[in-house]
Amino acid sequence: MNLILLGPPGAGKGTQAKRLQDRFGIVQISTGDMLRAEVAAGSEVGLQAKAVMESGALVSDDILIRMLGNRIARPDCARGFILDGFPRTVPQATALDRLLTERGTKLDAVIELVVDAPVLVERIAGRFTCAQCGAGYHDAFRRPAVEGVCDKCGGREFVRRADDSRETVQARLDAYQRQTAPILPFYAAKGLLHRVDGMAEIDAVTAEILALLARLPAATAA
Ligand code: ADP
Ligand code: ADP
Ligand code: ZN
Repeated sequence: MNLILLGPPGAGKGTQAKRLQDRFGIVQISTGDMLRAEVAAGSEVGLQAKAVMESGALVSDDILIRMLGNRIARPDCARGFILDGFPRTVPQATALDRLLTERGTKLDAVIELVVDAPVLVERIAGRFTCAQCGAGYHDAFRRPAVEGVCDKCGGREFVRRADDSRETVQARLDAYQRQTAPILPFYAAKGLLHRVDGMAEIDAVTAEILALLARLPAATAA
């Protein structure tokens, strides 16, 4: 099963992608995480991406399309994948179609998480993750069960993203409206787009996604 999770920054894509990964045994592909790994490694791509990401703008289509093409060619994608953060522009969406056709596969669903802008700002400002396993948390909405200890791995170190500042949020929301929202009609026209209320609680959002996947044509939601 090949899925796309679409939505503005802070909509809950990463949170839901991790749950779908655990539920279906298909891999989460977060282009944001991949780029942050490149930045941390100081690679050529990382050097090109760092300042762009910190400003809240989008990294070039060329870099992303190449990166995604290499990623979905890896063996762990054979059973399927959940794209989290890609595509983010119309050229990326058309390139993805081409990549999937070349590989003899296709998308099963595009899930749009719909969330109001003021809530997105709150979510981004309070977001933090486990430094060891990447589990996602929030200062107000999703604290670890034991203060300072990761629920998943017991790690005690947490990190916040450099671009998760109130100053950068508006630029990221603008980039979403201007460059990413135009891909919604592209998928709607293919009959692939499903809208989900992303304002609901995390468990309720997961339940709604699972329900819509169960309604998809045969044998996809294994
Ligand atoms: P995205 O990947 O779309 O940017 P995340 O999954 O990282 O979004 O979620 C952003 C922040 O909001 C995280 O701190 C996460 O714990 C929190 N969050 C995610 N979904 C919800 C929800 N449905 N209700 C409240 N908080 C949420
Ligand atoms: P969020 O979880 O807030 O939606 P991501 O982690 O997906 O953010 O992305 C962080 C940043 O990485 C983006 O603001 C952008 O600069 C860059 N980025 C990630 N994916 C893409 C992409 N598909 N195209 C262009 N830039 C991207
Ligand atoms: Zn952890």
